[in-house]
Amino acid sequence: MNNLAFLEEKVNQLKKDGVYRKLPINYGPCSNVILLNNQKTVNLSSNNYLGLANHPRVKQAAIEAVEKYGAGTGSVRTIVGNQDILENLEQLLAEFKQEEAVTCFQSGLNCNIGTIQAITDKGDLILSDELNHASIIDGTKLSKADRAVYRHNDMVHLEQLLKEKRNLYQQVLIITDGVFSMDGDLAKLPEMVALAKKYNALTYVDDAHGSGVLGKSGRGTVDHFQLHGQVDFIIGTLSKAIGVIGGYVASKKIVKEWLLHRARPLLFSTALPPAAIGATIEAVKMLMESEEYTTKLWQNAAYFKAGLQALGFDIGHSQTPITPIMIGNESKTMEFSKELLKEGVFVSGIVFPTVPLGKGRCRAMISASHTKEDIDFALQAFAKAGKAIHII
Ligand SMILES: *Cc1c(COP(=O)(O)O)cnc(C)c1O
Repeated sequence: MNNLAFLEEKVNQLKKDGVYRKLPINYGPCSNVILLNNQKTVNLSSNNYLGLANHPRVKQAAIEAVEKYGAGTGSVRTIVGNQDILENLEQLLAEFKQEEAVTCFQSGLNCNIGTIQAITDKGDLILSDELNHASIIDGTKLSKADRAVYRHNDMVHLEQLLKEKRNLYQQVLIITDGVFSMDGDLAKLPEMVALAKKYNALTYVDDAHGSGVLGKSGRGTVDHFQLHGQVDFIIGTLSKAIGVIGGYVASKKIVKEWLLHRARPLLFSTALPPAAIGATIEAVKMLMESEEYTTKLWQNAAYFKAGLQALGFDIGHSQTPITPIMIGNESKTMEFSKELLKEGVFVSGIVFPTVPLGKGRCRAMISASHTKEDIDFALQAFAKAGKAIHII
């Protein structure tokens, strides 16, 4: 008897739908050109926006941190896992983000799961954008608060919900991505902050794709809109533009005090390893020293987007270096990604359930580490693959 037949059926369905895939293997570091399945490939699919994941200064800092602090922390932060190097990182990040305090987690996902649950309770309401990241949705599910979803970036709908529901609850928390990861559009933060003031609600911005990308030296979406001190919870990741791993909340000091007592990933999961902390400190210092990396990122993105538009692709309405190539049909999306790979360019196909049914797309991620030659090579591949599957 096969008691796992139910999973075989599900996997077979994926194959029928044309969305079954094997994990690609990268045989080296994350860089502009990678050895994907041992083939030299232009990498248009990482979140390594600034090229720091394999930067010599960042790697050297990781090595030095390992020499001094070892490979692992040996404990959760609340017991003996709270090394001084982690406290130093939190201070540096608070300075970088221009907020009172920063609390670090093991990843952005951990940060959302731990924070949302810790700061909300029974009798509270969470208002969440319909396109918020999966880790926000999971964090919300773990909370005892009620929840309601507003239409994407629809401030009229958000206000309607606030009007109807504000008085029925103790705290109301509005949660949004700063930059929406599948379309590259920005949250309407100034309007949202004004609504939060009008209805006495709290604001929570997950800036995973905005940190290191938007604002001065990559200080994020809150800096881009000049809203320092006006967003209650600013989440950032250290895994994307910073190039390493980790997540954090920038906030008032009192938030940190509470999270250190109640955020479950800090209480029940081991602290970030020294290598990651050391590397992150160096990466943040590099951003604070110079705008070289963010400037290069935006220049590369503008050049690439202009090239795609000239070829006739629909690249959606991105306001950031995230570049979706809208295709629609799920299996056609995966086919396009395969055609590009044949041409030596990796752009992952993104389909349901990551995006709604019928909204399949290939999402290209430009990095400061790409050269003009890399981008020209990629544009040629796009032209060829686009014609092969008849979308241009
Ligand atoms: C990527 C992402 C995360 C998860 O960050 P990790 O550090 O990779 O766990 C959380 N929120 C948003 C909006 C993201 O895009």
